[in-house]
Amino acid sequence: MPITDPEKKQLAQKARLYMKICFYCGARNSIDAKRCRKCHNKYLRLKNRTLGIKK
Ligand SMILES: [Zn+2]
Repeated sequence: MPITDPEKKQLAQKARLYMKICFYCGARNSIDAKRCRKCHNKYLRLKNRTLGIKK
């Protein structure tokens, strides 16, 4: 099913590329995560990729 709505497409790309990575164990967490789901470390960095977005 192709996504025709450009707003939804942008949202989907953000959801895929904007996530948080744990400093400690490197696990991926959701963008609104307060702490790591794996080791419960609260130091999360933002994975903020602008390159390599597939169309
Ligand atoms: Zn962690």
